[in-house]
Amino acid sequence: MDTADKKSGPGGRRVSSIERILGRIDDLDSTNLAILVQRLARERALFEMLFNTIDEGIIVIDDAGTVEYANSAGMRMVGLRANETGTAVLWKLVPDLARSLNFLPGGEDTLAPNITRDAEVFYPEHRWLRLQFSRIPLPEKKTAPARFVVILRDITADKNSTEEMIESERVNSIFTLAASVAHEIGNPLNSMKIHLELIRRKLEKTTLPEKAAGTVKNSLGVCLEEISRLDEILKNFLGAIRPQKPALARTNLLEVVLDVLGVQKAELENRNIRCSMTQVSKELPVVLGDVSQLKQLVFNVTKNAMEAMQDGGSIAIETDCDDAFVFLRVKDTGCGISRDDISKIYEPFFTTKDNGHGLGMMIVMRIMREHGGQVGIDSEPGKGTTVTLQFPKPEARARMLPSAGKS
Ligand code: ADP
Ligand code: MG
Repeated sequence: MDTADKKSGPGGRRVSSIERILGRIDDLDSTNLAILVQRLARERALFEMLFNTIDEGIIVIDDAGTVEYANSAGMRMVGLRANETGTAVLWKLVPDLARSLNFLPGGEDTLAPNITRDAEVFYPEHRWLRLQFSRIPLPEKKTAPARFVVILRDITADKNSTEEMIESERVNSIFTLAASVAHEIGNPLNSMKIHLELIRRKLEKTTLPEKAAGTVKNSLGVCLEEISRLDEILKNFLGAIRPQKPALARTNLLEVVLDVLGVQKAELENRNIRCSMTQVSKELPVVLGDVSQLKQLVFNVTKNAMEAMQDGGSIAIETDCDDAFVFLRVKDTGCGISRDDISKIYEPFFTTKDNGHGLGMMIVMRIMREHGGQVGIDSEPGKGTTVTLQFPKPEARARMLPSAGKS
């Protein structure tokens, strides 16, 4: 401990009374000890009061999910009583979590250091929580079991309002702007396409040396192809940012993934990235979804996975089913996401890339919500990230539809 330094360093910061006493720890007699205990208790009470004034829930759990500490907001959100700290298990208070964390308490698996999940709780009242898990750094000797601090935010209001429109007015106005820019780009593109076609026709009637004709024809072909590609991007972009009700149909996620990987094949090869696909459960990963939105979703997630890897790496895509959900997991071996960034990942325009736009994950979240699903992220900086897309099974989704259509 560096307390001695602080005591002897007159130019340093103010030394707290407890530190002063600890500095004299050698001659700690019973009077000093009593004072120390009293002051520690007072400081603890102060911190507890501070934590209890925060709107966010704060819960500390051990690696088995046992709650070691919870502030007032945290207790309220998960329905924990004061005398239950030390015994209550978070996975039991929020049952959705254990399944979506893909974590077997007491099993081999350990949790990634940075995790975010949305979960629905029904007790003490129905609400949606966004939980952010951060592993508390272990002391030098790594014998102690891992502990996590969990920050809980109530996102119920947010969830309810998304049917009307995405997060906020700011986003809305930027979307309108983006949509009009995209629209404006569409017009000149169209006219370029028409003129290129005209040139092509003119060329057919002109006699050019054979070699030159070949080159010109080739270049024209490239220009036309690129224009259709831009057209496609614009259409996708407009489609993604306009709030559209998904046109739901039974869709096999494996087919969606294969389609998207087909489009990204060249980029995967250029970046020297291996990509594998595994169907974990025998059951086909069929969901009720809008094919083009699902493609957009998978595209955004795999694109991020690719961009997270500078010099090659691998992307492992897994589909899985349990009795209620279909899961699509995209695991990369990229740079990972820091504790600070993971809480901002769905914010519009949050990007850590020089040429990123920061809309991808927000669109992912929006599409998942429109499909009655959820997104989870598990990440370890320097090692990689797993994005889990959790869809309700078609039977469950069909049951949810009447209420979803109401708003
Ligand atoms: P963009 O890709 O344009 O930056 P996104 O909304 O798609 O915007 O992603 C936001 C940010 O989230 C990224 O800039 C990156 O920092 C982080 N991120 C998303 N996915 C991953 C991933 N698989 N690995 C590492 N970081 C990621
Ligand atoms: Mg992106």
